[in-house]
Amino acid sequence: MNDIALERTLTADYIALEAEYGAKNYKPLDVVLTRGEGVHVWDVEGRRYLDCLSAYSAVNQGHCHPKILAAMVEQAGRLTLTSRAFRNDQLAPFYEELCALTHSHKVLPMNSGAEAVETALKVARKWGYEVKGVRDGAAEIIVCDGNFHGRTVAIVGFSTDPQSRGGFGPFAPGFKIVPFGDADALEAAITPNTVAFLVEPIQGEAGVIIPPAGYLKRARELCTQHGVILILDEIQTGLGRTGKLLAEEHEGVEADLTLIGKALSGGFYPVSAVLSNSEVMNVLHPGEHGSTFGGNPLACAIARAALKALTEEDMVGNAARVGARLKASLEAIDAPSVKEVRGRGLMIAVELHADAGGARRVCEALQARGLLAKETHDHTIRIAPPLILTDSQADWIAEQFAAAL
Ligand SMILES: *Cc1c(COP(=O)(O)O)cnc(C)c1O
Repeated sequence: MNDIALERTLTADYIALEAEYGAKNYKPLDVVLTRGEGVHVWDVEGRRYLDCLSAYSAVNQGHCHPKILAAMVEQAGRLTLTSRAFRNDQLAPFYEELCALTHSHKVLPMNSGAEAVETALKVARKWGYEVKGVRDGAAEIIVCDGNFHGRTVAIVGFSTDPQSRGGFGPFAPGFKIVPFGDADALEAAITPNTVAFLVEPIQGEAGVIIPPAGYLKRARELCTQHGVILILDEIQTGLGRTGKLLAEEHEGVEADLTLIGKALSGGFYPVSAVLSNSEVMNVLHPGEHGSTFGGNPLACAIARAALKALTEEDMVGNAARVGARLKASLEAIDAPSVKEVRGRGLMIAVELHADAGGARRVCEALQARGLLAKETHDHTIRIAPPLILTDSQADWIAEQFAAAL
């Protein structure tokens, strides 16, 4: 057997093993990765790819960032988990650094993004009953059509994606859905029982949907006017992805609760947080909410290093600069299959016409050219490489797209 045949067997073996033992809740590209460094990943056959997904923006700092790795290894050999029954010496500095960076007053640390969302929903409801004076059990939370906030039962209950919610009911009541980007619809949906409006500044999973200019500003005004908590889910848009530390900065607004996750650990570990810039968080008292792993010293040490890498290496500024360059190059591609290129910073999408044969085919062609990207829905390809992307790498991405399209 020659080397190539042997390698083929290796990839096929992993895929067959997964198919035999794993739940089939994903349909990944047929590439088995074994190593990552910076913007690149390598498969088990030794082929190199430029990663244009960054684990859904969890790897903004690039794969295996050496300083985050060093912090993780150092902390892992010292203390990993105490639970919150005791204190640890990483939590307080993590709080202080995160608040200084994001201009927040309070932090509640969790693990996955969905847990941060659930936390915010609980806090908003409790605030509604205890501060706003909503009758017990009547609190309403407004969400948007096309939202993606995670996979728990409460969250998929207010999803509008049939795949995400179908077959998983009954669901928690108390949620209202309005069209994304329509501030008038938001205003019309607000009642005296409305406690919160939960929204993504840019809808990532829906296909990088950017709302009209002024939408978030108007939403902020409406929330303030009606005593409604504005919850911004920045789990994907936050931490530099759109060319600002938080996407809310594009419209100069401040949420009451901001949710971050994903890149908060640079992809090393699940770390999420609810940031609060008002007194909303103070409705929680000891014993009312928690997590065994939330705020553990290993997570805090990793997150501190991940935030430091973002700022020290100006990854946010780089995302703005290189993102604009990449978007312009993609827009310049003359391909009849392309309906639209849209994006902000390094959160970019290429949407194909419905009759263009589908985004999956293009992703497979890109894979063959050494670029990994994933379709969202049927006709959109998301491009979200690590924020350390260079100009020449951006140009290379655009060249591969031009060829694949
Ligand atoms: C990924 C994501 C979540 C969920 O995060 P998990 O860590 O997968 O639970 C929530 N909201 C948005 C906008 C996301 O992109």
